[in-house]
Amino acid sequence: MAQQYGKVYLVGSGPGDPELMTLKARRLLDTADVIVFDQLPGEKILASMPEAAEKIDAGKHAGDHNLTQSEINDAIVEKAKEGKMVVRLKGGDPYMFGRGGEEAEELVKAGIEFEIVPGITSALAATAYAGIPVTHRDHASMVTFITGHEDPTKEETALDWKTLAAFGGTIVIFMGVKMLERNMGELMKNGKDPKTPVAMVERGTRPDQRVTIGTVETIAKISKDEGVKAPALTVIGDVVKLHEILGSQI
Ligand code: SAH
Repeated sequence: MAQQYGKVYLVGSGPGDPELMTLKARRLLDTADVIVFDQLPGEKILASMPEAAEKIDAGKHAGDHNLTQSEINDAIVEKAKEGKMVVRLKGGDPYMFGRGGEEAEELVKAGIEFEIVPGITSALAATAYAGIPVTHRDHASMVTFITGHEDPTKEETALDWKTLAAFGGTIVIFMGVKMLERNMGELMKNGKDPKTPVAMVERGTRPDQRVTIGTVETIAKISKDEGVKAPALTVIGDVVKLHEILGSQI
């Protein structure tokens, strides 16, 4: 008889506030045999993982990761092949800069059934809690999501800074703390108005959420002085002005 494989759920846990998890994510987390997680879902959600499940810490702290991406993929595939119901828990939405697409491809390659459970991305939730609507009729009719973490030694950048500098909408940068100074420099070099408002939203939707405000010209220094740390989003554009009016939800 052919062995019965288990199933893998790539589950987005949302931005950190446990009430912003979907009902489906909650149900799957509560019934999983195995949960493969990293720190991005945040303390509260990680503390709510059921006792009974086997938990595998993929611990992707920058510079201090326990498992490589291929080891994570192997672990997920192996557990599914044992017939287990596996939840791969990911902060925000699995397909938004979460390497969820790569993990899903691996599962297809290995012949394992999987399902994707979208989550609320931090790009929408952390900004909203910070009082920054990413679009607004008076301020921005477009929004773009980019990664700010690119190897500085890489000669070619995948990001088209010229286009980004000319972009009239809101720019939301993921993983942008380390390279903030370089990225703001690229924008200015390519013609972005240095006075454009910028917000850094750290640990969005969590009890210790913090918002730091500056401009394209000043934010790198302000962030350094304030000790801004990951996970944080960088939001660039006139919508940032609304933070003062719409305030912070935390
Ligand atoms: N899939 C995730 C993003 C993964 S990339 C999502 O949809 O949100 C990791 C980056 O996401 C972090 O470096 C940070 O830029 C951002 N991020 C994730 N959760 C965050 C939060 N609660 N507050 C601020 N930024 C967050």
